[in-house]
Parts: sequence; structure tokens; C-alpha cells
Amino acid sequence: MVASEVRALFAVASRPEIVSLAGGMPNVAALPLDQLGDLVKDVVSEEGTAALQYGSAQGDPVLREQICDYMTLEGIQAVPDDVIVTVGSQQALDLITRVFVDPGDIVLTEAPTYVTAINTFAAFQADIRHVGMDDEGVDTDELDHALTEAAKAGRTVKFFYTIPNFQNPAGITMSAERRERVMEVCRRHDVLIVEDNPYGLLRYDGEQKPTLYSQGDGNVIYLGSLSKTLSPGLRIGWALAPSAVRAKLVLAAESAMLSHSTFNQFVVRRYLETFPWREQIKTFNSMYTERRDALLGALNTMMPVGCTWTRPEGGFFVWATLPEGIDAKAMLPRAVNHRVAYVPGTGFFADGRGRDSMRLSFCYPTPEQIREGVRRLVGAIEGEIDLRDTFGPAMATTTEGSQAPTPDLP
Ligand code: PMP
Repeated sequence: MVASEVRALFAVASRPEIVSLAGGMPNVAALPLDQLGDLVKDVVSEEGTAALQYGSAQGDPVLREQICDYMTLEGIQAVPDDVIVTVGSQQALDLITRVFVDPGDIVLTEAPTYVTAINTFAAFQADIRHVGMDDEGVDTDELDHALTEAAKAGRTVKFFYTIPNFQNPAGITMSAERRERVMEVCRRHDVLIVEDNPYGLLRYDGEQKPTLYSQGDGNVIYLGSLSKTLSPGLRIGWALAPSAVRAKLVLAAESAMLSHSTFNQFVVRRYLETFPWREQIKTFNSMYTERRDALLGALNTMMPVGCTWTRPEGGFFVWATLPEGIDAKAMLPRAVNHRVAYVPGTGFFADGRGRDSMRLSFCYPTPEQIREGVRRLVGAIEGEIDLRDTFGPAMATTTEGSQAPTPDLP
């Protein structure tokens, strides 16, 4: 296990003078905190003896029923028995990897992909292989090729991990046609799909796409989470899995933590019972729309020639690529001097790629801070461009090799 680049950045990015376009923290200040306080109090006074007791490793049955109701907004039909509550969807990733992956097994992911999924797969010694993406999502010819080559080499591919909606970090959404093609390719190769969808309901424009799960026949494990639509602090996520897999996940969860936090589940239960939570999601969406538009607008007007970036229809992230010869990781200390932070692209690949790219998140700073952050970022990029134009690319990039540590930040 190694600390992720995102973690190394947190200490710097949280300094007050820095505009952080780095962290992916939801803006929980938009929640009605006083009402939530009353709700927590009611859980203790009215249901305390149950809420403060052990529970099950599969999760509270009432909450699982509510999760099924929540998932109908994504077009998913499921019954409570299909659901296992997890400590955020992160725990589902851990449990799935624990259950399926033996050292050396191949796990396929999009390139780039969610940094902590990479770390989890790596912790279980998976052989992580990336499959490229374009603006419609994963390249299915490349996926097909990777699966064919693995079969020819007699290698086991345990699953294909994908984030089809507003992908972290690329901000890309898989098109409906591409989803059908992913299903076809994985079915033909008899490979399990892990569909990670924590951002699905945070859509700011465009049409909702059908989930892979709803097109599957027992070959998709679906992961959901309330971290972005309610609160990451409550740590409520879930997996929807075929029964044989689910039974193993419950056993793995039991050995990891015996029982979930009954208390947190009761809080969420009551929230979903008594709060206009669909309205709350709309509130989040209009706030995040404004922030996304602020970031895209600022990038459009300020970024130097040669930079490109994605235009997400939802979620939290934009993926930006720098002009040739500029290294996002080497540039980070300069960016911090300009009082702005981002996550360099290398953290989102298992193989050292991504030096020319960065993830910019728009969820936490205000629109004004975002515009100021981009102004500062552009100052840093222009400084690197000057250096490159004066001394050539070798001088502009100060770290070498894909395994170079995160630079010591001032
Ligand atoms: N998957 C993806 C793609 C994410 O971006 C995150 C959080 N950043 C998670 C899973 C984990 O979320 P949580 O455990 O809070 O549900």
C-alpha cells in the first residue's frame, strides 16, 4: 500500500490561501444542518435502543428497501434482498476485490480511473490494465482486444471496473451505444462488470443513460452511494450483486467489521423517510451546475493555446490536458506558489501515464473562487510555457520516471 497523490495533496490544498481545485469533497454546507440536527436527536430519543445496538453485515432491511426506491431514479428495479449496505461504495470496492482477486489476476479499468480504486486493486496485488477512453466512454475495441489477448495468454480477468457517469477523474459519460457495446463485449468474454455510479443523479444537462446493471443478466455488480447526494460523513453506500456473489460479500463484510453502524443507517433511514430528499438533490444540482459553468467558462476564456479539457454533463470533475512538453506533476509546486492546487494526472493511472494532464474539481470552491483559481492556474502554466520555450521541455520537467515521488510542496 502506498499513499495516493490525492492524500499527499490534502495538507497543502486545505491551506486557506490556496484555491483548491484538487479535492472531490461534496459541498455539505448546502444541507439543512439544523433540521438534520433535530433528526439525529429524534433517532436517539425515539429509536435509541435499536439504533445504538449491533446490526447485520448486509445492512438494515428498511434502509435496503429505501435504497431500492432511490435506485428507481436511475431506472434500476431491485429488491432489498439484492442489496448489501457498505461503508461508502469504497468498502464495496474493497470487498469485491477481496472476494474475487488473487495476486496476479487482471483487473481492467478505464484510463484514467478513480485513484482509490487503483489503490484497492493494487493492495490485493491485481495486475491493473487500462483501457483507453474517448468522449463517448471506454474504447470497446480496445476492451475486446485486451480480453482476447488475456484469454490467449491464459490469464484470468476478474472484472472490468467502470464509472459510466461523469467519470472520476475524466468527467466523461459513456454513451448509450457504448453501454450496449460494453455489455456485448463482456458477455462474449464472460467477464464480470463492476459499475461504480456515485455521481449518477448529479446530472446538470443531457439525457440520463440506462445503467449497465439494468441491461445485464447477473454479470454486473452495481455500486451506489449517498456520499455525493447526501453526505460522505455518514459513509452509506451499497452494492447490488447476484445472490451467490452477495453472500460472499456479506461474509467478507462480517469479517471486516462485524456490523455496520446501525446509528448512521437509522439517521439515513429517517432522512429518506421524512426529508424531501429529491428536492435536496435538485438543490445540489443547481449549485453544482453554477460551479461547473464557472469552471468551464473560466477555462474557455483564460486557458493558453494548446490546452484541452472535457465538458462534463454532471459530477464533480474536469480533466485538462496541458500543451506539449508541460508536466502537470512537475508544475504543481509552481501552482502552489500561485496559490492554486489540482491533482496531477499520474495518480489516476497504474502505469505512470498522465503527466500531461490534471483533474480539476468544481464541487467545493464557490464560482468566484473557481474563476480566481483558474486565473492562478493559468499563471502557473504560462510560467512553465516560458521555461519550456527558453530551455526546452527537459528543463520544464523536473521529475523523472513514472515512479517519481510527489514533489515536496512548500
Ligand atoms: N467511486 C468513485 C468513482 C468515487 O469518486 C468515490 C469517491 N470519491 C467513491 C467510489 C467512494 O465514495 P464513498 O465511499 O464515499 O461512497
